[in-house]
This record gives sequence, structure tokens and C-alpha cells, in this order.
Amino acid sequence: MRVTTAFNRLLALPGTTVRDVSFEPAQITVTVALRRRRLACADCSHSSRARYDTRTVDSSWRHLDLGRLRLVVRAKLRRIDCPTHGVRTEGVPFARVESGFTRDFEDLVAWLATRMDKTAVRRLVRVAWQTVGAICARVVTDQLDPGRLEELFEVGIDEVSWRKGHRYLTLVTDHGTGKVVWGAQGKDTATCDQFFAELGADRAAKLAAVSTDMGAAYLKSVAKPGHAPNATVCIDPFPKQFKGARWVLLKRPERLTDTQAATLRKLRRHGGAAWRAYGLKEALRAVFAGDLTPSETTELLDRWCVKAARSRLEPFVKLTGTVRTHREGILAAIRLGINNARVEALNNKVRLITRRAYGFHSAQAALALVMLACGPITLRLPYEQTHVRPHSV
Ligand SMILES: [Zn+2]
Repeated sequence: MRVTTAFNRLLALPGTTVRDVSFEPAQITVTVALRRRRLACADCSHSSRARYDTRTVDSSWRHLDLGRLRLVVRAKLRRIDCPTHGVRTEGVPFARVESGFTRDFEDLVAWLATRMDKTAVRRLVRVAWQTVGAICARVVTDQLDPGRLEELFEVGIDEVSWRKGHRYLTLVTDHGTGKVVWGAQGKDTATCDQFFAELGADRAAKLAAVSTDMGAAYLKSVAKPGHAPNATVCIDPFPKQFKGARWVLLKRPERLTDTQAATLRKLRRHGGAAWRAYGLKEALRAVFAGDLTPSETTELLDRWCVKAARSRLEPFVKLTGTVRTHREGILAAIRLGINNARVEALNNKVRLITRRAYGFHSAQAALALVMLACGPITLRLPYEQTHVRPHSV
């Protein structure tokens, strides 16, 4: 078998024929020619037989490694004059626009990034972490389910930090599927407004419940005319200072490790503010357990407020005021069963992923990683793909 035939079969890159294979100490370079005569615009469906010119330098893409060797695919590309996009280098079926990697390579990297820590991914695929971020962004643009904003009935709006120094993303979760369906950089009213603008009036009218925390920014956006006209606003009463607080104020007793349980016993023996805070936090959680009637819930929440207000614990006294202000929203959250506990697993996953994204330099890349791991995307590894791919001509 000729080496070019062997590499045609090995690579199976759609729409190409292998012309030449050269071996270097750490790299194999495979030169391919596109089989199609027509040139395709990389950004739209326009195609033409007319070439504008041929690029003087070859384009190259890193492909999946072959054994210990890096594999680089090379091709001479032509340029097309697209009526919409102007003079552009033609698109190729085996790589995404503006990428120096093949689809197969990018799909592998995106899959790994959702499952492995930063160091492991970098070492395994030998690319910089920032490049991993750019790859994630391209895969998301390509694979994200365009219908993800259809049929939304109950959503949660939350913020998450993606980088030290108060860099935030706003994320919208579909409570029905437990997937993150929308995200953007920032955490103010305007950020949240962007979501409702993209959702549009018709789909917004279908929203039956919107849950958010007690921060004023999102509530202000949700309350704007047309944003969620038929939705019950559900408020998560656990404020940020408790979310980020010590494990003792966060974890459920049954989920503590042995060491943590021992520390908790010690805390109980000593009593004091930390122990009282723990008790109050557990009591509030019990109101949210979902096994009470609406009237019992109301009664217990009001009693909790009285107790917390007298606790002399500054954060709880403050929380009482906010709970009283948002009493209706909080009761709605309990009634509809939309609360922290329900989305706890997803929130933990989002936090784990955003910590991994801390090395990324753009919010877009951090958001992409969140969407890859928690969004409506099915990532497939190269050998799980069908042979029909987008752009194959
Ligand atoms: Zn075009």
C-alpha cells in the first residue's frame, strides 16, 4: 500500500485526498488537496466555482497525534469573493473557521476540558490553556443547541465568579432540564436584560417561574415590563455570604466527613456564635425541605425571622430584614419547590468548572467551558462521530 493511501484511510478527513506525507523527528506533516471544485465561504452557505486567488502560503491544522508524533495537516487554500463576507479564505470541511486545529482535535480537547484538570489537559494534548479556552469557545458556537431557549417554563438566574477580582458571569438555568441555557459576562441589571431581549416577548410570556437570589440587580430586570409577565418570582433566601462561608454553615450534617463531624461536635461543646449560626442556618434549611403545607411554611418562616432578628448575629439580623422584604418570593420558591437544594448538584458543577476556567483570559472562554460542561451540548469524541459532518461538500 502506498503511504498516501494509508494516510487517506488513517485520517479519513472529509473532502480531502492525501498528496504527500513527510516525517520529521517529532512530527508528521500530511499534505492534502480538497476534492471539491467549488469554493465555499467559511462563514455562510455561499459557494462558487470562481476563485479570487490562491493563497501563497499553505494553511495548516494540528490533527490528533499519531503515536508519539504530532500530526499536522497542510493544504493550499484558495480565496473566494463572497457577496456577503467579501474576500475570504475558503472554508474546509475538516476544521472550524479561523482555527489552527482540525475538528477532531478540537472535539477531543473540549471533551477533556470538561472532565480533567488544567494541568492534565495541557500535558496530554500539549497546547496552552488559553488555546484550550479558544477551542472551547469555537466548539460551543458550533454545537450549542439553537433550540435551547424554546420551551422554557421555570428558570433560575444566578451569578458565578469566573476569575479573581470580581469578574462575573450571569447564568440562566432551565429548572426543567437542569442545564445552563444562557450566559453572559457581568452581573448587573443590563446583563440580565440581555437574556430577556434574546428570549423575546413570546417565549418570555411562557415563563411560569423565575428564581433568583435577593440581589436587586436581577429582580429589577425580571420586574421590567414584558420580561417575565406571567412568572412567579421565586427568591432564594440563602445570601452570598453564606454560600461562600465556612463548610460548617453550608454542608448538610449527613454529608460531613468524619473530621468535619468531629469539628462540628467540638463547636457544639463550645457553643457560641458559630454554633448559634449553624442552628439558624439549619432551621432555615428545614423550612425549605418541602414537606410542609403552605400555611406551616409561612408560620415557620415568620418564626424563623423573629428568632434570627434576636440572635445578635449581624449577618442573620441583616438577613431577617431581607427575608421580610422578599417574603412573597421566598414563599413562592418553597411552594413551587424551586430552591437551592434542587439545583445544588448543578451549582457545584458550575463552581468546579469556573475554578478550572480561572486561567482563561476571556469571559467568553470561561462561559464556553461552563456551557460545554453544563449546557445542552452533546460532546462526541472523534470516533463517536458519524461520517456526515457540517460543511462537508
Ligand atoms: Zn459568506
